[in-house]
Amino acid sequence: MHSDVESLLALQTEDQAISEMEARLAALEPRLREMDLAHAAAVEALDRARHAVEAEEGGHRELQTRIAQHKALHERNIAQLDSVRRMKEATAAMSQVEQARRILAEEEGALQGISRRLTELRGTVETQERELAELDATHGTERATIDEARAVVDGQLAERRATRVGSAARVERILLQKYDRIRSVRRDGAIFPLRGPSCGHCDTSVPMQRRNVMAAKGSIEVCETCGVLLYAGT
Ligand SMILES: [Zn+2]
Repeated sequence: MHSDVESLLALQTEDQAISEMEARLAALEPRLREMDLAHAAAVEALDRARHAVEAEEGGHRELQTRIAQHKALHERNIAQLDSVRRMKEATAAMSQVEQARRILAEEEGALQGISRRLTELRGTVETQERELAELDATHGTERATIDEARAVVDGQLAERRATRVGSAARVERILLQKYDRIRSVRRDGAIFPLRGPSCGHCDTSVPMQRRNVMAAKGSIEVCETCGVLLYAGT
């Protein structure tokens, strides 16, 4: 086999190995992104739950303050009631006391409602904190495995690329430029043997005269249909 063909085939073997390793690295990416998204979603859910707790706690504090104020007012009303002598004033004071008692009862009920919601919301926060920790622990293990796999492929890839430099140096410069140009658009290969009378890539038949030259001189031709490099196989 002609040395140009041999060195190009060796180069193509390197490139195919490199492509395959790059594909293996790229295949790891979706899972990493998926884990990032799952983590972000869990963090966001936890944030929302914590904010909900804070909002309820704020409402709880406000209502407690209001109840304390109303209680004090109520006690003053009751004290006043004792000092009222006239009937008309007594009726007014009684109704004031009654109204304040009703408001207080409503507020106490609302406070209980908030307390119940707080208990639920704090439970949600705890659950989500636990889930996030579990998720991160699981992901941590998986990421370590992926990192290991990636380190192995990275190492092999570095070796392969170094070998590729040597293989490329053995190809004649103009031919190498042609090869690289074809390879940049055709990931499935840039140089193919003739298959019978036809291009080994697209199956278009190659004129006999050109085939004869290729066989005699070991020259490399470009397929006029698909643009790959062609050589006469053994
Ligand atoms: Zn072709």
